[in-house]
Amino acid sequence: MFYCGVRMGQDLQEIIDDIAREMNAAPDRGQVADYIPELGRVDADQFGLFVALADGSTYSAGDADIPFSIQSVSKVFTLALALGKLGHELWSRVGREPSGQPFNSMFLLERENGVPRNPFINSGALVVTDAILEGHKPDAVLGELLRFIREVAEDGDIHIDKSVAASETAHGDRNMALAHFMAAHGNLRNPPALTCGTYFHQCAVEMTCRQLAMAGRFLVAGPGSPSLISPKSVRRINALMLTCGHYDGSGDFAYRVGLPGKSGVGGGILVIVPGRASIAVWSPGLNEQGNSQLGTLAVERLAAKTGWSIFGGI
Ligand code: GLN
Repeated sequence: MFYCGVRMGQDLQEIIDDIAREMNAAPDRGQVADYIPELGRVDADQFGLFVALADGSTYSAGDADIPFSIQSVSKVFTLALALGKLGHELWSRVGREPSGQPFNSMFLLERENGVPRNPFINSGALVVTDAILEGHKPDAVLGELLRFIREVAEDGDIHIDKSVAASETAHGDRNMALAHFMAAHGNLRNPPALTCGTYFHQCAVEMTCRQLAMAGRFLVAGPGSPSLISPKSVRRINALMLTCGHYDGSGDFAYRVGLPGKSGVGGGILVIVPGRASIAVWSPGLNEQGNSQLGTLAVERLAAKTGWSIFGGI
């Protein structure tokens, strides 16, 4: 069987069905995030997987059509918008190095004068949102974000779950603290409450695995994938996903999976096989680093069975 020029011993649909079966039977599913109370109500016994190949074919297993909160996976889309608007200027306000710290950490921010390590930790994502917000109203920015996602996903039925946004707003002290701290260093241009409010809504975008994998195709740069941003930006976002997309679990994800990925505390992960495929996996239980426990295991299995890796050698 050939998929995008790669020979596989087993049919791709069979591979992902086997993975879904294994994940459904897995006893240790991790812990659902409950610091955002609305997310704490999600049933941990769910698992979905969707693969969109660059040649246009798609493969679906498990709960791939159940919507979930994309949370930090949204940071990939806002980074794409910010790079389009600001280009290289963005990097004067946020770095490109892994932090080795939890996603909501304050620790390095104090030592490094309010300049976050990278755009995927919360402080860095707040700066990115602040940058695209400058001179605009939150509704306009969120509208642009949704238009971008819907266009690339080829699906108009993608929305923000307002109850999740409200739930995070009511418990957002830590992100507000990060925002205020950066404002004190002059690295936030809008009032902290406005930037945080916009960020909480961007995180509350709700998507299925099918929609997320379809939306991720703009990062594949394969023959049939949509090109909404420059090839240079595609390479750079993938590089940041590999090095920083899983916070202090990024090294482990690169070691186990070998592909760029971005996780969210809703239990979703977007994984890119450059030139070949966009993959979305979802299981709400998280590991200690706040990344989907079974989602990570599932894409580790998928990478091993397909041979997909940016490092080769499997
Ligand atoms: N909205 C979440 C937060 O700021 C996103 C974190 C995540 O998905 N890792 O805490």
